Amino acid sequence: MMPTMKALVYEGPRELHIRSVPVPDIGDDEVLIEVTFSGICGSELGGYLGHNSLRKPPLIMGHEFSGIVARVGSNVGESFCVGQRVTVNPLISCNECESCITGKQQLCEYRVLLGAGRPGSYASFVAVPAKNVFALQDHVTLEDGALTEPLACAVRIVELANPAPDERVLIIGMGPIGLFTLVALKLLGHRNVLAIDLNEERLAIAAELGAETIHGTTEDLLGQIRKWSGSDGVQITIDAVGADVTRLQCIQFCSAGGRVIYTGLHSAATGLPINDMIRKEISIKCSFAYSHANYMQALQWITEGRMTLGKWVKKAPLEEGSSCFEKLLGNPGSIAKYLLIP
Ligand SMILES: [Zn+2]
Ligand SMILES: [Zn+2]
Repeated sequence: MMPTMKALVYEGPRELHIRSVPVPDIGDDEVLIEVTFSGICGSELGGYLGHNSLRKPPLIMGHEFSGIVARVGSNVGESFCVGQRVTVNPLISCNECESCITGKQQLCEYRVLLGAGRPGSYASFVAVPAKNVFALQDHVTLEDGALTEPLACAVRIVELANPAPDERVLIIGMGPIGLFTLVALKLLGHRNVLAIDLNEERLAIAAELGAETIHGTTEDLLGQIRKWSGSDGVQITIDAVGADVTRLQCIQFCSAGGRVIYTGLHSAATGLPINDMIRKEISIKCSFAYSHANYMQALQWITEGRMTLGKWVKKAPLEEGSSCFEKLLGNPGSIAKYLLIP
């Protein structure tokens, strides 16, 4: 009889159920990982609502995770052994196309994301190509290991923003990506960061992480931001939401000659005031996932114990996955990230 395992299966909008499914087979170049912690990503919230074209039911989502090696394929050799603690780069790229060769694996034409294009980590076990698996050093917790992937997204955002020491940065949205971006900016020693959100508790986290904060409903928001920046706006604005309103705010709050980084994937299309943008010579940069180098930078920070969000990470059994998704969509409170435990 085929061995089975527990999985949280996305079966349609707002339908996430625990099912018993076969344990995945592994290819010769793959590793089977027993999942320890698997984070909930904002893109999966969109997926759960049926708004994400890449996530089609039935699907086992989950791509931010850590675990223990349970089995290794015949070609994997000595690089991994059963019982080893690992985390995974869930972006599987071809290694051969122009994007891959030039170090932009996130743009690989043939990329496949675990938990979207193939079964992910909201399950007891997940099969992964060995080249995407990274051993965790003994002192690194599996909880921190599971945060490598979202931190890698932030590394890419900050790489594109590339703030000079005296430049001011505004982040709109203190969900996981906004918070991780703030952490990355702080790790790079950046002082001048302003955070905007509609949730007081998340603004409190941002303040504790060293950002100035302004509530998104504050009267004369632009005036308040200008007061903070002491100029005609902020040199760098980052949209970590992806809604029409926040995308427009990023343009509105950006100084002449400044740059806007878009990363939130919420609205599929947004009308932008291009003429204003031309007259202010605003540059737009878009940040998607992370390159291999970005991922390795995140893993290095995690290994050095520099991830400062641990206190706001909450754990829950996989069985409560559905209610965790609902909580994050409703009122996340002071939770920066949920880690599900299969
Ligand atoms: Zn993610
Ligand atoms: Zn490629």
